[in-house]
Amino acid sequence: MLKNKYPLIMVLASMVIAASVMFVHLYSHEKTKEIYLGETEKVILMLKKDFLSDTVNNLIMEIDSLREEKEAAYQLNTDARQRRFVEEYYVSEEEFAAFYETRFRGDQNQDLWTAVLINEDTNELLYASDHLKGDTPIQVVKELEETLLSKGEVRKGSLRGIFGVSKTYVENQVKEEVAASIRNRRFSNDSYIWVNEVLNYEGGDRYAIRRVHPNLPETEGTYLSTHAEDLAGNRPYEEELQGVKENGEHFFSYYFKKLNSDDIAEKITYAKLYPDFDWIIAMGVHVDEVHAYTEKVTGDIEGLTSESAFQILAILLVILLSGLFFIQVLGKARMIENQRTLLNEVSRDVLTGAETRRRGTKNLEKLFQEHKRSPGSTAVMMVDIDRFKNINDTYGHDVGDEVLKKVTMAIHHMIRNTDHLIRWGGDEFVGVFPGMKEEYLREFGEKISVEVEKLHIESAGKPLKVTLSMGFTMFRAMDGSYEDALKRADLALYESKNLGRNQVSVL
Ligand code: GH3
Ligand code: MG
Repeated sequence: MLKNKYPLIMVLASMVIAASVMFVHLYSHEKTKEIYLGETEKVILMLKKDFLSDTVNNLIMEIDSLREEKEAAYQLNTDARQRRFVEEYYVSEEEFAAFYETRFRGDQNQDLWTAVLINEDTNELLYASDHLKGDTPIQVVKELEETLLSKGEVRKGSLRGIFGVSKTYVENQVKEEVAASIRNRRFSNDSYIWVNEVLNYEGGDRYAIRRVHPNLPETEGTYLSTHAEDLAGNRPYEEELQGVKENGEHFFSYYFKKLNSDDIAEKITYAKLYPDFDWIIAMGVHVDEVHAYTEKVTGDIEGLTSESAFQILAILLVILLSGLFFIQVLGKARMIENQRTLLNEVSRDVLTGAETRRRGTKNLEKLFQEHKRSPGSTAVMMVDIDRFKNINDTYGHDVGDEVLKKVTMAIHHMIRNTDHLIRWGGDEFVGVFPGMKEEYLREFGEKISVEVEKLHIESAGKPLKVTLSMGFTMFRAMDGSYEDALKRADLALYESKNLGRNQVSVL
């Protein structure tokens, strides 16, 4: 029960470690993903915003230079016409007035010119372009001077002609050219520029007119309302108007139809007010591809995470299994060692170190069987200490123990590794000697006697004499079991005792 506990603890500990490693692993991957995606999204949005604002601001610079160009061109045109009038110095005032009028009323492009002709003496208005209003000549001249972008003036007697090209004319031309140019522009990622003209900076329904819209050309010229909402409930027009009113420009995002598709997607937009035209010039780009990118990266990272998680688990599993394997192997080795020690302990007599009778009979049986299979020459000895009871009685039990130990040791020194010395009981021992010749038995017994007599055992300073009686025999062909041989050895021992002890008998 206890033996099985350690692998279980190890498995549980490994599971806790694996779970912790997994948690840290997944957590760090998740954090890395968040940071990476957050930063990437920021950079992409920043680049898109730069692209939007750069494009719109470049367009505004183009409008400014187009206006300057036009103004210069019309001024040249006006100067040329002024020179042409001055050349008419030889005609009468009436003829001049008629010439003046035909030059303007008869012009192919009547809207190009705005002109008046007055008689300063009579304060009479001789000619005024149709679109000029005003009741008195002074008012008309005042209005004219306010509207002109390029101005020419000519005098002929009491006549005074003022003319030029109106700001509105030029601006309308610029607006048309810019609108056409915007419609023709192509940008990547379905991006485009659109223009709304503000009618009322306070907002509300009809706060603006849509002037240019490449994605929804059919809606150009329609009114817009700041109350309009997108799919997410945002009010992009209101936000845009507020933003450009406060800062002149504004970044915002909302949901809008994609170009050439019916899909609705999030769009970031940059809008800038061009106050001279009351134009809000805006450009937007859909950001759904950022989300698509984010999703793809998330998928990739998650795939990588689970792959590496699987690898970590596999490594941990290998470590765990090797750990369990080593525990098993070491445990087994230790068990075998323990068994060996245990076996040694039960097979050895505690006091003398000789084989126990239990072990000894097994060895006897084994050796006897071997002898039966391939008969050799195996000697059996039975030995008993003479008058051992007396030693105990005279010198005490401890001295008796010492005698037993020393006698055993002496015999052990004289035998081979393959021989056996068994404590048969009390002061009686059995010896088994495979390969010992029968002729040698008596000599061997006497050698033992000599060695034992030489033992130095003392009690209270007095030397003690120990002798042995021995009976020898061999495993013989007629023996049915080792016991038959043992009985003969016992008889031989009995004979030695009878012959007065300290004897060697062979039967
Ligand atoms: P004999 O010469 O006829 O053998 O006489 P003996 O006195 O040796 O008689 P026996 O062999 O019958 O006596 C054996 C004695 O050994 C009896 C017992 O008290 C003693 N004995 C048995 N085991 C031990 C032991 O482990 N230690 C000691 N000190 N004495 C033991
Ligand atoms: Mg005895």
